Amino acid sequence: MTTHSICVFCGARDGVKPAYRAAATATGQMLADQGWRLVYGAGDVGLMGAVARAAQAGGGDTFGVIPVHLLKAEVGKSDLTRFVVTENMHERKKVMFMNCDAIVVLPGGAGSLDEFFEVLTWRQLGLHEKPIFLLNIDGYWDPLMQLMNHTIAEGFASATLKDYIRMPTSVPELTKNLHAALE
Ligand code: AMP
Repeated sequence: MTTHSICVFCGARDGVKPAYRAAATATGQMLADQGWRLVYGAGDVGLMGAVARAAQAGGGDTFGVIPVHLLKAEVGKSDLTRFVVTENMHERKKVMFMNCDAIVVLPGGAGSLDEFFEVLTWRQLGLHEKPIFLLNIDGYWDPLMQLMNHTIAEGFASATLKDYIRMPTSVPELTKNLHAALE
């Protein structure tokens, strides 16, 4: 039985280090092992595809949401447990967000950053209390944390901003963090 739904934001590319893709595969496997449902952008490219294929291989429940105009570019993965096609990006993010209990951000580019900042700013505004995790593989997200520290140091964000984020450095640590947050 699926107990929790975990939204994974991650790159539509693999990135240069094999560790990124390995972490995506391990995340998909972990979700299946825990009986947690993967909610993601329904692409079959880059880390997105790696997470989904690993979750499927482990017998996990997968829920993908993709806007119609990206069906081709991101190779819409229609063999998921549930495959939802939205009209646009905003709807995609909304459907993903509304159907999850926690958010995990793997290495990714501008799209992943957009998705991360949206859920972070909604959290900052008190619009939700879903836990947010940055999976910091090989220090990938260190510059992002530096930028957030800078916004705090320069008086443009409250120090509580960082309370909304956990930064596990491995998938086993992420799993522990998720259990602690969801139970
Ligand atoms: P990226 O991290 O840039 O590889 O993108 C990861 C995912 O984010 C892909 O599925 C993109 O389609 C998606 N994405 C890119 N730009 C945006 C945006 N402005 N809003 C929402 N999602 C986006």
